[in-house]
Amino acid sequence: MGGLTYNERTGEPVVVCFKCDIKIRAQKDGITIKEAEKRRKRIFEVSRLFQDVKMREYFDYKSKREFDSIEEANRVLKRIISVWNNFSIKEKKGFDTIDNEELERVYKDILVDFSDLYRMLNNSLINIILHC
Ligand SMILES: [Zn+2]
Repeated sequence: MGGLTYNERTGEPVVVCFKCDIKIRAQKDGITIKEAEKRRKRIFEVSRLFQDVKMREYFDYKSKREFDSIEEANRVLKRIISVWNNFSIKEKKGFDTIDNEELERVYKDILVDFSDLYRMLNNSLINIILHC
């Protein structure tokens, strides 16, 4: 997987391969390729951790350890990703600088609203309502 960048001259979006994307980012930020790779890895880690924390919350609530179906997994992941995508670039960059232990605490305070999913999948009334 590569990345999306913009032609500096025309402003048109350009899709580039992974290696070029890293090179372009390194140049833009004035850092080494190695450092750019490290940053990219961290960005991935930080979003992955958000998914893990929120999935754990969902499983805890449902008192189970895994999804019962692909449909359930898709619904839950879609919800988590939509909350993630609503963070600003500035917020996401802030996450990158926090260590994982602290980040888990930060993530726990960010609420993902699964309430309709609980209802839909349980067919029963739920009295805990989470709000984003
Ligand atoms: Zn390339």
